Amino acid sequence: MVVRQVMRAVVVGAGIAGLVVARQLGLAGWDVEVLEKAAAPRPDGYMMDFFGLGVEAAERIGLYPRLAAVAYRVDAVEYVDARGRTTSSLDYGQFARFAGGKVLSLLRPDLEQAALAALDDVAPGRVRVRYGATAGRIVSGGDGVRVTVDDLPDEAPADVLVGADGIHSAVRAQVFGPEEEYLRPLGMRAVAFIVTEPVLNARFRNRFVLTDSIDRMAGLYGLRSDQVAAFMVYRDATGAAGHLPAGSPGQRLHREFSGLGEAVDRLLDLCPEHPYDDIVAQVVMPGWQRERCVLVGDACGAVSLVAGQGASLAVAGAALLGDVLGPVTSPEGISPALVEFERRWRPVVEEAQAAGRRAASSFLPANRAQRLLRRWIIRGSRLPGADRLVARQIVGRSGKG
Ligand SMILES: Cc1cc2nc3c(=O)[nH]c(=O)nc-3n(C[C@H](O)[C@H](O)[C@H](O)COP(=O)(O)OP(=O)(O)OC[C@H]3O[C@@H](n4cnc5c(N)ncnc54)[C@H](O)[C@@H]3O)c2cc1C
Repeated sequence: MVVRQVMRAVVVGAGIAGLVVARQLGLAGWDVEVLEKAAAPRPDGYMMDFFGLGVEAAERIGLYPRLAAVAYRVDAVEYVDARGRTTSSLDYGQFARFAGGKVLSLLRPDLEQAALAALDDVAPGRVRVRYGATAGRIVSGGDGVRVTVDDLPDEAPADVLVGADGIHSAVRAQVFGPEEEYLRPLGMRAVAFIVTEPVLNARFRNRFVLTDSIDRMAGLYGLRSDQVAAFMVYRDATGAAGHLPAGSPGQRLHREFSGLGEAVDRLLDLCPEHPYDDIVAQVVMPGWQRERCVLVGDACGAVSLVAGQGASLAVAGAALLGDVLGPVTSPEGISPALVEFERRWRPVVEEAQAAGRRAASSFLPANRAQRLLRRWIIRGSRLPGADRLVARQIVGRSGKG
């Protein structure tokens, strides 16, 4: 009788990509350990559009119903001036149509929680998620790949190490080289947070409201509870990680965002001490796999928030990695599977990155003329036939049409 060897994977990062690939490998019979440096699922976040390949993958792997259950309704997407008057508005229904009919508006932590809950689909004990566990030194050798956790002694070797640890991936830095080689800043910085504010919540419930401003943009959305999800993006040339601009996030936001109206002023006052606060950047690498290590999600192919599909690609890429790696039953099969994953997924990521770079050039108007142009484009997108053009501009090939 041939005894099937149980393959073992260590996944670094219990974000969207990490949890999805862990589930898919667990369903395929792998033994999976997920290391997450946060002490618990991260509550911080922002609203995201989830569509295209992400929706297709979520439907295929049975995650979609869990996502649809926590999705938000979007009644309107409006740009407003400092007095709160609407200057232009997007037809969200049209956006949904050219994205293939299905667009979910999801809060980042809700998507992560849904992926975590979906681990219940796997046989008990197959996938273990360890919170408060920071991946340390990685050593790849003949018997597999070992990773230390929190400076503890080496653990049992795994057949594969999956780096799903986001845009500042520590796995990437160790196995492929320093961050500066791969991070491509897009000249902007983003801050995002969720606050409890019943008055603003009532005003902005189910609406995306964006400031029609130059060189900066604040966006807010009223959630189901008394909360408001806020994000603020501004031009920032300080560049790569580690070169933080001066001042706390709150001080910087006050500097950059005052004068955009009383709703934004109120949010500035409520900004928490440690919001999401990072450069807007892509990750561009010549190779995503080496020996027994592979990267997935933002770690290898961040497209940036301006592309609006990093989470969709994190789910779809992780599902594909599960498809190609899941059936592997011996260490010899690993390398070909990882090569196959990269061969199939790289063109998709590269196209989304190109769409993201195009979007980045017009995301924040640099002057009044550019702002006017954006208003015209938004109004024009309501014309019959314009939807396909706009779709290609925004979502590249992952939009349908
Ligand atoms: C403001 C904003 C708006 C966005 N809007 C959209 C949108 O509309 N649509 C969309 O699709 N995408 C959007 N995105 C992008 C999307 O959030 C990301 O692409 C997606 O979260 C990437 O998922 P990931 O699993 O690859 O990485 P992450 O979500 O970053 O997860 C990485 C995980 O690894 C953990 N980790 C890191 N280092 C270690 C370590 N050494 N050891 C253990 N654990 C570690 C981290 O704590 C984290 O939990 C937006 C992003 C931002 C910032």
